[in-house]
Amino acid sequence: MEGQLAPIFDQVLRRNPGEAEFHQAVREVFESLAPVLTKNPEYADAAILERICEPERQIILRVPWVDDQGHVQINRGFRVEFNSALGPFKGGLRFHPSVYLGIVKFLGFEQIFKNSLTGMPIGGGKGGSDFDPRGKSDAEVMRFCQSFMTELYRHIGEYTDVPAGDIGVGGREIGYLFGQYKRITNRYESGVLTGKGLSWGGSLVRTEATGYGTVFFANEMLGTKNDTLEGKRVVISGSGNVAIYAAQKAQQLGANVVALSDSSGYVLDEKGIDIETIRQVKEIERGRVSDYAERRGAQFVAKGNIWELQADIALPCATQNELDLDSAKLLIAGGVKVVAEGANMPTTPDALAAFQDAGVLFAPGKAANAGGVATSALEMQQNASRDAWTFDYTEQRLQSIMKNIHKNCATTAEKYGQPGNYVAGANIAGFTKVADAMIAQGVI
Ligand code: NDP
Repeated sequence: MEGQLAPIFDQVLRRNPGEAEFHQAVREVFESLAPVLTKNPEYADAAILERICEPERQIILRVPWVDDQGHVQINRGFRVEFNSALGPFKGGLRFHPSVYLGIVKFLGFEQIFKNSLTGMPIGGGKGGSDFDPRGKSDAEVMRFCQSFMTELYRHIGEYTDVPAGDIGVGGREIGYLFGQYKRITNRYESGVLTGKGLSWGGSLVRTEATGYGTVFFANEMLGTKNDTLEGKRVVISGSGNVAIYAAQKAQQLGANVVALSDSSGYVLDEKGIDIETIRQVKEIERGRVSDYAERRGAQFVAKGNIWELQADIALPCATQNELDLDSAKLLIAGGVKVVAEGANMPTTPDALAAFQDAGVLFAPGKAANAGGVATSALEMQQNASRDAWTFDYTEQRLQSIMKNIHKNCATTAEKYGQPGNYVAGANIAGFTKVADAMIAQGVI
């Protein structure tokens, strides 16, 4: 790491021991920023980097609940309110056993720059719990969500902090969380959470937005090479919210999506993934990709590495650090043209470098998956004006936001002498907007 950035990064390591994912996310942003600091010495004078790495507020909660056997269970809840220079804190809640403070801080840090790139007035935050919704009854999930919100409600609000979904938090969980918030506060404050159901303040396209947006972004990248998704072979990891709707939009744009995965393995369906079947299995039955394979007569590879499959386009849409250097080498050998991250930080740093060295077009999550939070901001707009937009209008807004993010990343990368480097473009464009707002708002 160059010059004045190195001691600041060392300080981040010292002040946040044991938080490997947070260190990784900070390093990735810092590695893009040397030319920005040279051009803008006022950022160093105002200690912007030191301040931007320190969350404005970090909340850790005890979340007790009673399981179906009558036993008391204790989970830990988190909300990290990272940066409110551009607007109220905004970012999802993740329920997964791997969640600890370092994961929430990495996600919250990424969220600052992602939200900045959307062009919407939203700051960055993230939260979650080590609660595992898998295998729990609806009643257990409800009791957990009610207990979590009983602690969280005092910290959030439509002008303060607006959570949404992420891994393990979908429409069911948002419903239970919203119900408890409404009950405790005696307010129908629609704008306090996004990802709501359509009949109670939700927005059309929010469910599809992250996956659709990732594919719109990949399509823009192909456009720079006068190419399109038509006829491309696409491999997508994960089989949750982001993966399913990335698959749907890729198919609508003429691609053939042949594989999806979960933590137990991957399914290869050469006929093309059938969206209705995967939705039925995952969204309604809460099943596994192996159930999909069985129903479709497709191949299921238990514990298989999905990146061993040949792909023109690879969309990692599962979780952090799921695509490592060995996987990148396999994809490059198979002739991959575009990698766009639907998940947050799914590519390890050495894999990312390998893609860039091989001339593969690579889009980081903070740009490619920003359509989810952007559409959450559109949901907040609809709530504020007590309006509900049509699917087509909302999708057009999403598409134009993704085009703008692509253009902003591409032109910023070019301006800083790194044409085609979407990582540098996203980090620099996202950062400078927040940094300028922080300077304008004084030392706070
Ligand atoms: P879901 O919970 O809907 O789905 C997650 C999927 O990823 C599941 O198929 C899950 O499989 C798989 N997965 C999770 N952990 C692992 C693991 N350790 N190894 C292999 N597979 C794993 O989550 P989302 O689709 O909402 O989120 C996916 C990614 O997209 C996350 O990185 C999230 O932060 C990011 N994202 C989500 C947004 C949204 O709007 N939802 C917005 C922007 C980013 P299994 O069931 O076996 O665990």
